[in-house]
Amino acid sequence: MIAPKPPVPAPKPVEPVVSPAAVTAPPVPVPLKPLSVKVPLTVKELAEKLSISPSEPIKRLLGMKILVTINQLLTEETVATLLKLYGYEYQRMPTLEEQIEASHDVEDRSKLIPRPPIVTFMGHVDHGKTSLLDAIRKSKVVETEAGGITQHIGAYQVTLPKGSISFLDTPGHEAFTAMRARGAHVTDIVVLVVAADDGVMPQTAEAIDHAKAADATIVVALNKIDKPSANPDRVKKQLAELGLQPEDWGGKTIVVPVSAKTGDGLDHLLEIILLEAELLELKADPTKPARGIVLEAELSKGRGAVAHMLVQNGTLQVGDVLVSGTYWGRVRAMLDERGHPRKQAGPSTPLEMMGLNGVPKAGDSFLVVPDERQGREVALRRQEEMQGAKTTPRRTITLEEFHRQLEAGRVKSLNLLLKADVQGSLEALRDSLEKLAGEEVGLKVLHAGVGDVTEPDVLLAEASNAVVIGFHVGLTQEAEALAKQEQVDVRLYRIIYEAVADIRAALEGLLEPRLVETVLGRAKVLQLFKVSKVGAIAGCQVIKGKITRSAIGRIIRGQEKLHQGKIESLKRFKDDVREVTEGMQCGLSISGFSDYQPEDVIEAVEVQSVAQKL
Ligand code: GDP
Repeated sequence: MIAPKPPVPAPKPVEPVVSPAAVTAPPVPVPLKPLSVKVPLTVKELAEKLSISPSEPIKRLLGMKILVTINQLLTEETVATLLKLYGYEYQRMPTLEEQIEASHDVEDRSKLIPRPPIVTFMGHVDHGKTSLLDAIRKSKVVETEAGGITQHIGAYQVTLPKGSISFLDTPGHEAFTAMRARGAHVTDIVVLVVAADDGVMPQTAEAIDHAKAADATIVVALNKIDKPSANPDRVKKQLAELGLQPEDWGGKTIVVPVSAKTGDGLDHLLEIILLEAELLELKADPTKPARGIVLEAELSKGRGAVAHMLVQNGTLQVGDVLVSGTYWGRVRAMLDERGHPRKQAGPSTPLEMMGLNGVPKAGDSFLVVPDERQGREVALRRQEEMQGAKTTPRRTITLEEFHRQLEAGRVKSLNLLLKADVQGSLEALRDSLEKLAGEEVGLKVLHAGVGDVTEPDVLLAEASNAVVIGFHVGLTQEAEALAKQEQVDVRLYRIIYEAVADIRAALEGLLEPRLVETVLGRAKVLQLFKVSKVGAIAGCQVIKGKITRSAIGRIIRGQEKLHQGKIESLKRFKDDVREVTEGMQCGLSISGFSDYQPEDVIEAVEVQSVAQKL
């Protein structure tokens, strides 16, 4: 049933009276309408977009002392300023690449299905990473294909009754972190290989830190269990000391005894990997266009550019157009690790692909685009960007830059990598540095090790936005070159105190600055003036100190603080002045206030932000 309409009140006659308040009240701000504009564009183009004559923006800009001609290209900043004048908020038109990426990012949860985990082997040299990778490959890949030839394509996939697993062919944390430093997050699970007879070694500890810095799940493969000298308990104890408490000791790390030589425990290791993958709930949507990572790429005689890739999401099909690094192409052919041609490859599938017009780099991503025109355009744009790459902001951090990044809210804690000559000094350095961290300031030591600063250290610092601190150690030549190239901040010290002082200085910028108020002076209101267009002005006498134009004005009546705001105008007679000192008279107004009364006191306050000391 429709309710009867309430009687419509008779419209009030419009009174042609303008109240004085309406004249002085600031205009009600109208929300700006967002408008997407592709910059740079000419004055003429902008005027067309706004349906105005081009002479209008030219005049407006002239008023701002910016001289432009009708066909001149406008910068982003100028366009934003102009649009505001016409009631619009400038929104940058996303680039074609951003539009394509955004379309890839759209997720339809109902289409997500579990995807195989991607696994990397890490550990100390000679502990059996390669042997384990080979043993798994031989037992699982070849057995399904009698006599099938396996070729290295950067990764291989094994299929088990309970699911599939993709293993990356290049073991070790160097390759892993190098990928990460390039922005490629490939690995889901790290299998940390520790030889049961040798135990935890320096590179084992390094690998743990690299895996942790990447937030990867760690499963320990306790290898060489066939050896009579194997001592699993000793290794578990060492692992626990490094923060990997074994599950059978009440911790969370699963330690699987295996032998690459006899094949013992391999099936169990694979099962555990699948279990961990299930916990991680790794999902992908195979109905989408593909995106993924280049693992390796080369120029092959007769086949052109050959890229070894791993699909991360979606399904790659022969005939798809893709962009990778600064290249593009149509997928001409795909091969799996057995050299078999494939028409398509779903999530977590490694494959060899032909059809790109150049050789991308390991760690570059690839992205399927709608058509050749768009592929060419994105690749071209990236090439242009590469050429102008010198102007792009650095991704790595320096100690000096820290303060600024924190103020901008981009970092909350300082990541450090410590290297020292001996264990004793390493601990001393770590202790004194960690003491600097407080509630507001985070300090995270991603890795602490004995020995020179090496390439993997620099890579880890780059991948994790960390600063490297070396104490009584050197920098290997390769590490120095890499640090220079990637602009990683490596600092070498001979005295602990100096390292601590530098870090403290950087962290002090990290602390929220304290606001310190200083009362510069006081004035007493003698009289109130109303000035048309300006509003209320308080005629005052400075009774103490001084009143400055740049200060904040605070109005006090009796004991009560009534209001505080910017001093909007400060005058001696008719002249604007910067300050008025004790004994003198002045006229002033404070923003947002007009109700001055004789005997009110106005305090001029200066507010400074002061970096806190630790
Ligand atoms: P990586 O440097 O970690 O890749 O180690 P490798 O896979 O090259 O293995 C180093 C050495 O250990 C080789 O001589 C292997 O034959 C041997 N090895 C690897 N796994 C086992 C194992 O389970 N048992 C025994 N007895 N030897 C192994």
